[in-house]
Amino acid sequence: MSEPDALLEARMRFIYTIRSRGVTDTRVLQAMEKIDRRAFVTGIFADRAYEDMPLPIACGQTISQPSVVALMTEALQVGPRDKVLEIGTGSGYQAAILSQLARRIYTLERHRTLAQAAQKLFDRLGLANITSMVTDGSHGLPDLAPFDRIIVTAAAEDPPGPLLAQLRIGGIMIVPVGQSDTVQTLIRVTRRDDGYEYEELRAVRFVPLVEGLG
Ligand code: SAH
Repeated sequence: MSEPDALLEARMRFIYTIRSRGVTDTRVLQAMEKIDRRAFVTGIFADRAYEDMPLPIACGQTISQPSVVALMTEALQVGPRDKVLEIGTGSGYQAAILSQLARRIYTLERHRTLAQAAQKLFDRLGLANITSMVTDGSHGLPDLAPFDRIIVTAAAEDPPGPLLAQLRIGGIMIVPVGQSDTVQTLIRVTRRDDGYEYEELRAVRFVPLVEGLG
């Protein structure tokens, strides 16, 4: 098989695997098809970009498992007019997927090296609706609140209070909750007029949400 054919086949298998993990939303699947994960994995792991596993990136962090990215994106129920806040830019892959589905993405990262590399990629790929910032994301972005959707891609012991406060009424937040070195639970929080509703979605494993800059 020639190299382009092999690549095409690997990318087709990638989408097939994501579907087989239960993702059915066609908008999410199309975004996963369009954004090439290979661009977000550098160095010795680049050849494994189409495997359904988390992979190491710089600063001791990881790019999430693609089927988990897809399931979290689906659970977030993003609409085309939404303003979305992401905590934990990492490689920028999740933000890139969201950029295909929402109006505007703000993504926060505590490691400057990662934020800069991700911003370069967003520029190169022409993903102009993503704004990346270097900051401790556990405080959110009060000046730009409220957000229609919030996604946290690092595990917190509890959903951070400032993020709950920055969710608009009717808004949805997805956050992995639990101790960092054990299995965590992915939670969906919906803000209602009279409070917050919590649903447990599935077991996941993320790097911890850490306070302060990296
Ligand atoms: N969404 C990423 C996955 C990143 S892993 C992707 O698609 O590749 C989680 C990221 O959260 C790491 O890069 C880590 O540095 C970052 N992080 C952890 N605590 C943070 C905090 N308080 N504020 C901002 N970023 C944080």
